[in-house]
Amino acid sequence: MRKRSPYFSKERSKKLTSKLNSNPNTVIQEKIIGKDGKIEFNKYHKGSFLGKGGFAKVYEITDLETKNIDAVKIVEKASLKKSRAKQKLMSEIKIHNSLNHEGIVKFKKYFEDKDNVYMILELCPNSSLNDIVKRRKRLTESEARYYLHQLVKATQYMHSRKIIHRDLKLGNLFCGNKMRLKVGDFGLATKISYEGEKRRTICGTPNYIAPEVLSSKIGHSYEVDLWSIGVILFTMIVGRPPFETSNVKTTYKRIKMNFYTFPDHVTISEEAKDLIQRLLKNDPEARLPLDKVLDHDFLKVPIPESLPVSAMACPPPPE
Ligand code: ADP
Repeated sequence: MRKRSPYFSKERSKKLTSKLNSNPNTVIQEKIIGKDGKIEFNKYHKGSFLGKGGFAKVYEITDLETKNIDAVKIVEKASLKKSRAKQKLMSEIKIHNSLNHEGIVKFKKYFEDKDNVYMILELCPNSSLNDIVKRRKRLTESEARYYLHQLVKATQYMHSRKIIHRDLKLGNLFCGNKMRLKVGDFGLATKISYEGEKRRTICGTPNYIAPEVLSSKIGHSYEVDLWSIGVILFTMIVGRPPFETSNVKTTYKRIKMNFYTFPDHVTISEEAKDLIQRLLKNDPEARLPLDKVLDHDFLKVPIPESLPVSAMACPPPPE
């Protein structure tokens, strides 16, 4: 027997059943073939909408037998007509499913029916860091340190498995229980097959994209994630990305010229500035490697194990 979810009450169960009877569109069925060859169905209730990405919509989902609550990322098969889109989804599933780390959204399973592909993921109930920074305007350095530490650990794990995320940004960093950071969305991730292999696809999100990705001639590798981590740290502390402008072309120009400044209206410690500068180096080889990031003075202060959920809306009380 799987563990009963603490989120689930009898009251909610009753409400769900009556909702189910009245709206069959909220039921998702996973077809499974039993040992005796008999076809059975796992039934889920599709709950509240959590968010939308390029191809996917994400909802809360409840397993009607175990009452476990997770997130489900649903991709319509109609959007996968081009074989490239299908290949990309298969690669996302394969890479995400191969990862198992506290700092990465757990990929639980996937299945399909005639209309959709369903990916069952660990539910991150406390929104993304992008939403939090928007709501809060910016984070304290102590919070930035807390999230950065977990992000670096999760990225070290990915890199040790030869995986480059390639789309690290605040919108792909989710908050789990106790505001623990969870890296999600492996839609642009890639696996390196041999040491020194360079990738050439231009991909990423404009504000976070590394300069070597923009000049696709050179090719890129693990260091693109170090650049994005530098952009993330700047954005958490300042409240906007370093190269942001109202026009993507100008943003790309600034990235290539490495043109960014620390604003006067925000107090930023010398340690934070130094770490950002060491990550935002145009030469990928010159960027501070992850083990050295963990050793940097900015992270040489006690870091809390968790943050209160109130940190979604206001600065946490000083320790
Ligand atoms: P895409 O790959 O299409 O960009 P994402 O994986 O970024 O889709 O998900 C889209 C949105 O769904 C996210 O911005 C977030 O709001 C929500 N979301 C995704 N995964 C989860 C999760 N595990 N728990 C809670 N919300 C999630």
